[in-house]
Amino acid sequence: MTDIAASGPSSFADFGLHPDILKAVVATGYTIPTPIQAQAIPVVTNGRDVMGAAQTGTGKTAAFTLPILHRLMPLANTSASPARHPVRALILTPTRELADQVADNVKRYSQFTPLRAAVVFGGVDIGPQKEEVRRGCEVLIATPGRLLDHVEQKTINLGQVGMLVLDEADRMLDMGFLPDLERIIRLLPQQRQTLLFSATFSNEIRKLARSYLTEPVEIEVAARNATADTVSQIAYKLSGDAKRAAVVHLVKSRGLKQVIVFSNTKIGTARLARELERDGVRAESIHGDKTQADRMKALEAFKAGELEVLVATDVAARGLDVAGVPCVINYDLPYNAEDYVHRIGRTGRAGASGEAIALFTSEEERFLLDVEKLIKREIPRGQLDLPASLSASSRGERPARSHGGRGDRGERGERRRYEAPAKPADDFFFRPYVPANGTEPVRGEAPPVPPRTSAKRPLAVLLGGGKKDD
Ligand code: AMP
Repeated sequence: MTDIAASGPSSFADFGLHPDILKAVVATGYTIPTPIQAQAIPVVTNGRDVMGAAQTGTGKTAAFTLPILHRLMPLANTSASPARHPVRALILTPTRELADQVADNVKRYSQFTPLRAAVVFGGVDIGPQKEEVRRGCEVLIATPGRLLDHVEQKTINLGQVGMLVLDEADRMLDMGFLPDLERIIRLLPQQRQTLLFSATFSNEIRKLARSYLTEPVEIEVAARNATADTVSQIAYKLSGDAKRAAVVHLVKSRGLKQVIVFSNTKIGTARLARELERDGVRAESIHGDKTQADRMKALEAFKAGELEVLVATDVAARGLDVAGVPCVINYDLPYNAEDYVHRIGRTGRAGASGEAIALFTSEEERFLLDVEKLIKREIPRGQLDLPASLSASSRGERPARSHGGRGDRGERGERRRYEAPAKPADDFFFRPYVPANGTEPVRGEAPPVPPRTSAKRPLAVLLGGGKKDD
C-alpha cells in the first residue's frame, strides 16, 4: 500500500472536476476542500483504489462522491431509456440514515448533470424503490441486506458497476454484514475501482482491503482515536438511580435543545425517552427496532429543534450529521471505548464548540478509564449537585428506572414537571452555550494513534448495541 502525505489543492477549482460538478460545489457553498477531500479527490479521479481513515464530519462523502461523479460524466446522457442508465457506482453504507444522507449529497452534487442517483434501504416498503431503480440510476446507494433483496427480485443488476464504495466499513463488519458484502462483491465485475472508508484500520478492515482492493492508496487525515479540541469533556460520578434526574437537570437548568443522549441498549433507549417525557423533557428515541418511518420522524423533529433530547444507540446515531448539537450525554458509557469517540463527535462539529458529558457509576468507572487510555487524555471529574426535588425522586419516591410504572405520576395521575432549582448548585451551569458558527469542518491534528483497546463488541451485540440494522 502506498502512503501519501501530500497536502493537495487548496481550492476545488484545482481538481479539474467537470464544470457541472464544480458548479454544484460552488452552489453548495464550499470554498476550501477539507483535508480528506484535498487528498482523496485527485487519487480517486485518477482511478486508484483508496483506503481512507476518516469519520463522518470530515467531509468524506464529498471526498468520494465528487470524483466518482466526475468519472461518470463521459457516460452521462439524457436518454429516457433505463438501459442507458445502468448502475455504474455502488455505495454501500451500514445504516439507513447514512444511506439517506449520502444519497442527499450525491443528488446535490449531481444536480446540474443528467446522472441519476437512487437509494435503497431496509425497513420500508420495497415497492416504490423497485419503481425508482427500474427507471435506471448510475449511482446507487444501498444498505447491504436490502440491496440483496433487490438483486434477488431482479430489480437491480450489478453487472456494470465500475466503482464500489464501502462507507463506514468498520461499522458494516461490526454489524455482521461481512457475508452480505462478500455476496455483493461477487456480483460485481472484477475490473473496478474500490474505495473503502473506515473510522479505524483494524486487522479485520485490513483483511477486507487485502481481499477486495488493488494496491490502494492509504489516506488518513482524521483523528482516529482523538477527540476534537472544540469539545469540552466532563464526567460525573452518580448512582445509577440518579442518572435520569441528572439528564433532566442538565437539560432544563441550561435550557438545552438538541442534546443526544446515548444508551447502550435498544430497550434502555426507548425506556429512557419515555421516562424523560414524563419528566417534562421533550424526548424521542431512535434505535434499530423502530420502523424506518418512526426513526425518520424522530430525526426530523430533532433536526428541526423540536426536541430537547434524542436518546440513541450507537448504531442508530452513527453518521448522523446534525449541525449545532450543543451537548452529548453518555447515559451509559460504551463497552467499546472507540464508540465514545464516535459519540462525542456528534457535537463540536464544523468548528463549533460542544460539550460531552459522561454519567458513570462506580461499576462503570473502568469503561471511563478505557476511554481515557484510548484518547490519551484525562476527562475531568465534576460534581453534579441535583436539586432536592430530583434527588428525592432518585432516592426512591420516583425511581429513575421505573420501567414505565406508576412512580412517574403525581397523586392525581398528572405528569410531574421539572422545576428548575432557584440557583444551580454548580458553576458549570453558568457557562454559556456557544452556538454553531457555520465555519468549515477542518479538524485539528491527530495525536499519535494508540493501539486499539480490546473490543467488547460481542457484549454490545448481545445487548442489542450492534444489531444488524438493515
Ligand atoms: P461528511 O463527513 O461527509 O458527513 O461531511 C460533514 C459535513 O461537512 C457535511 O455537512 C458537509 O456538507 C460539510 N462539508 C463537506 N465538505 C465541505 C467543505 N469543503 N466545506 C464546507 N463544508 C463541507
